[in-house]
Amino acid sequence: MRPSLASIAAELQGYDPQALRVTEVNAFLSRLAEPVSAHDNVELLQALGRVLAQDIISPINVPAHDNSAMDGYAFRGASLLPDQVLKLKVVGTALAGVAWRGDLGPGECLKIMTGAVMPNGLDTVAPQELVTLHGQHISIPAGVLGRGDNRRFKGEDLTEGQAALLKGEQISPAALGLVASLGIRQVPVYRRLKVAYFSTGDEILSLGEPPREGAVYDSNRYTVFGLLTKLGCEVIDLGVVRDEPALLEAAFTKAAEHCDAIITSGGVSVGEADFTKAMMKKLGDVAFWKIAMRPGRPMAVGRIGSALLFGLPGNPVAVMVTFLAFVRPALLRLMGSTAPLPPLLKAQSLETLRKKPGRTEYQRGIVGNAADGSLTVRTTGNQGSGVLSSMVQANGLIVLHHHQGHVATGDTVDVMMFDGAI
Ligand code: AMP
Ligand code: MG
Repeated sequence: MRPSLASIAAELQGYDPQALRVTEVNAFLSRLAEPVSAHDNVELLQALGRVLAQDIISPINVPAHDNSAMDGYAFRGASLLPDQVLKLKVVGTALAGVAWRGDLGPGECLKIMTGAVMPNGLDTVAPQELVTLHGQHISIPAGVLGRGDNRRFKGEDLTEGQAALLKGEQISPAALGLVASLGIRQVPVYRRLKVAYFSTGDEILSLGEPPREGAVYDSNRYTVFGLLTKLGCEVIDLGVVRDEPALLEAAFTKAAEHCDAIITSGGVSVGEADFTKAMMKKLGDVAFWKIAMRPGRPMAVGRIGSALLFGLPGNPVAVMVTFLAFVRPALLRLMGSTAPLPPLLKAQSLETLRKKPGRTEYQRGIVGNAADGSLTVRTTGNQGSGVLSSMVQANGLIVLHHHQGHVATGDTVDVMMFDGAI
């Protein structure tokens, strides 16, 4: 049984839908968003960005053999003596990928390439730049090498039977390489999320429609498309839905039938004289929140059928901020990801920032490096909640926390980097 909004609200202390803090919103959503359980085996290359549904157990030792970490000469480390130059005769070559068979006598060594299997009994490699070559002999100066140097051990990266990757990890380029290094061709991943979205509002124009007075082109569907696609969701674009009950009902019903989540923008603010909120209420279990934050105060959240509903505000920047602060973490959880969110970073503000205690504020910022390498941040100018150009210039959000007041130049502030999210 999926928990109802009322049962989640009852678990949270002091839940007040009219004055929620950002942290309370995330606590609520983490209870509401239940991870999908279905998974498939996909070819390795299809797994990038997907979430692992089972641990990947290493079937082999990586590396499979002790091998050389350098191009140089392999020999028995026991023959190294303190304060003495070591002279050895070169009797063969061990190439990477071709095991050298044979035995070395005392005073002998082998030329060896990086990655070549360490021949039996040899445990140390003298890098070629340390040795002097005299015909068939090398000399290794005293005191430059220790026994066992420049040898990689079998199983040093992973041992057979060890978990190489854990369930709940999102597959990164490094993880793709790691799985490939194990010789594994298919991986179990949770199914992709399907997310439908539409914009509401009679003043919203779709691309291709002629401009008219008082109307604005729909930008939210484009940002939402980009944000969802970057997250690896399958998307269903339901267009701009006019403020008519029959059209809204059809859009919500279609979205709820086919999708894990529905994202709408517009029509949830207090003064809205429209049917969006009424339709959400009629079709689902939905709460209408006022969040102590800026931008992005009004938001509707709940479920229609089995789909999660995020009714975001209409303002273009508010859409992005609420997506990054709430929707993205909730969708990651729904995708089966158990990875912690990236940490906030500390940067020194290059300007004063006005901030009212009692709400969380997000300002669009450009994070850079000071001369000493530490982080600095400045805002991108006009912080109006409809101003997308200052969002485009930003590489992160300055997060001014609930209790925080004005920021003076030189104060340290938290920043949420966009990284790959935008
Ligand atoms: P609302 O939340 O519906 O009151 O909308 C707040 C503001 O955002 C209004 O100025 C709307 O015109 C604008 N807005 C709403 N939806 C969109 C959209 N899809 N694209 C661009 N602007 C929008
Ligand atoms: Mg509106």
